Amino acid sequence: MIYLDNCSTTPLDPVAFSRMEPFFHEEFGNAASRWHSLGRRASEAVESARQQVAQILSCRPRDVIWTSGATEANNLALKGAATAHSKLPVSIITQATEHPAVLDSCRVLNAQGFAISILPVDHSGLLQLDALRDSKGNKPTIVSVMWANNETGVIQPIAEIANICESRGWILHTDATQAVGKLPVSLADIPIDLLSMSAHKIYGPKGVGAMIFRRSDKIRRLAALLDGGGHERGFRSGTLNVPGIVGLGSACEIAERNHVAEANRLAYLRDSFEGALCSQIGDCEVNGGGAPRLSHVSNIAFGGVDAERLLHALRDIAASTGSACSSHSPEPSHVLRAMDLPLEQIRSAVRFSFGRFNTQEECNVALGQIVSAVSKLRRLRIHVGEAGVK
Ligand code: PMP
Repeated sequence: MIYLDNCSTTPLDPVAFSRMEPFFHEEFGNAASRWHSLGRRASEAVESARQQVAQILSCRPRDVIWTSGATEANNLALKGAATAHSKLPVSIITQATEHPAVLDSCRVLNAQGFAISILPVDHSGLLQLDALRDSKGNKPTIVSVMWANNETGVIQPIAEIANICESRGWILHTDATQAVGKLPVSLADIPIDLLSMSAHKIYGPKGVGAMIFRRSDKIRRLAALLDGGGHERGFRSGTLNVPGIVGLGSACEIAERNHVAEANRLAYLRDSFEGALCSQIGDCEVNGGGAPRLSHVSNIAFGGVDAERLLHALRDIAASTGSACSSHSPEPSHVLRAMDLPLEQIRSAVRFSFGRFNTQEECNVALGQIVSAVSKLRRLRIHVGEAGVK
């Protein structure tokens, strides 16, 4: 199996795993048990991971709130910020290509009476900044725009978005799940109030993530989603997942050291893969190709080919037709639809995402298999229309 689905999840880095291991066995203490050394050592490990996360994001360790992943972080950021200010007429502004954890949180808040507006993106997937500038928000307004998209890799102009929000006194949340560890994400340079991230996209374990809450005059309060023992300064009760948190910290440390070299290597693999694919089979479109993109993501529409059939034919290659989080839905990708692409282009799109453990040889083998599968499907004339896809 050639794994080209690193946006959906990454394998655990062996170094991160080795740091986690003792916390499954001998170091099994509860980080909240301060009365004995086992608990204190667990707590020290958690605090050192907090420093590692803060370091890669250039924020303060006390801004880091542990969560079960980016889904929870997005829910906590949006529902927590909105409901903490619910005595005021809060507005929420987001954009159409967000992850379902943001869009669905907004839908729930909307049903509770919060005003939500969903801004459009252009054909390449970039937020239309004028639409944001022209938006009318109440005080407080919460803006949620992802740093980089999980289906296309398109990178939003987050610094400009942050400046617009800052000049209006709006609270800014960003889902940086696909950006952290891949791009420089520095909260010292960009005024962002709330940020979500996840360990399993950066070679850490599944089921753990963080929400960064930078308290300021703009956002003084955040309501908890989970109440209980008052862990994480009351923002997120629940016994901490110590091995997971240690793995997340370690993954951040590794990413901080290597992300520039890694991004360059993956850009080379991705660009040569895209170039060779498009020149060898023709009638290919790189979705989001007109925008700045994460260097390891390639979302390609193969003219006249049904993506599901192509993935079925590529039995030895792990890739996807879009986000794993939406794979239960038969609907075509909401991200590509928001980019207003023709339905045939959406139905023929496959996302390949490269990662730390992919080699040039693997990419060459994958390329050969894709070229032959696409040519075969085209020869068999299993075109989108003829496959009965509406
Ligand atoms: N946001 C984005 C942009 C993502 O790509 C994902 C994972 N697909 C999530 C949120 C959800 O992350 P998690 O799996 O940690 O809940």
